[in-house]
Amino acid sequence: MYYVFILGTAGSGKTTMTKNLQDYLLDQEMDTAIINLDPAVEHLPYTPDFDVRDYVDAYEVMDNYQLGPNSALIASIDLILTRASEIKSDIDQIEANYVLIDTPGQIELFAYRETGRLISKLIRGNNKALGLFLFDSFLAKEARSFVSLLLLSSSIKFRLELPIINVLNKVDLLTDKELEQILGWGESAENLIDELGKVDEYSLELINLLIESLSSNLIPVSSEKGSGFDELYAEIQRVLAGGEDYL
Ligand code: GDP
Ligand code: MG
Repeated sequence: MYYVFILGTAGSGKTTMTKNLQDYLLDQEMDTAIINLDPAVEHLPYTPDFDVRDYVDAYEVMDNYQLGPNSALIASIDLILTRASEIKSDIDQIEANYVLIDTPGQIELFAYRETGRLISKLIRGNNKALGLFLFDSFLAKEARSFVSLLLLSSSIKFRLELPIINVLNKVDLLTDKELEQILGWGESAENLIDELGKVDEYSLELINLLIESLSSNLIPVSSEKGSGFDELYAEIQRVLAGGEDYL
């Protein structure tokens, strides 16, 4: 069994990707299950095999602990860890080639907090796993935001200790020229620095390092239109076959 964590900023298309990647994998005759980890989602386009909302209700947490929406979501995930053994036995019932994990938009859970790491370990156990980090095209087309997304992706990779495939999502919203430009930034730090204009020495080194350390190119997809999935699936298989080499 392989575990694929679908990660990205709020609204980057994680839920849409989860649904359409499942459909794609089913077409490839791969058994696929889905874990929903978003405690606040109201409507899901797929039927989850495990749903965190069966354990915590973010709206009840908000009321009971007098929290605002963002902190209630973070607290909800903290709370589910108090029920780790029940959750583990539920998840252990899942039989599939691929288990897709749809994650909440509170990306700090996975980038900055130990909870995200604990929960990902609880779910995947000793199985092979990777993360897809979705770059929202709407953000990525601005060079500084592109750099911020690279940093966020690195932070998640460091925190989760998982190989991460960087995916440029919603390419249907980009012109051909914009798409080419973003892919160019991912291929060479020089392209990115040209676009940024004058940057200080520290940023220059950082950008060089970030681009150099990308283990593969950004994979352009539209999770909504279903484009780019052949290339994405090939990359998933490559990373899973390579295992630790891609960390
Ligand atoms: P999540 O918050 O990361 O789970 O994002 P969702 O999957 O809920 O998507 C957020 C919004 O982006 C929804 O309105 C989706 O229809 C839209 N969306 C997701 N993927 C794509 C895409 O590939 N192209 C376009 N144009 N919109 C998308
Ligand atoms: Mg979602």
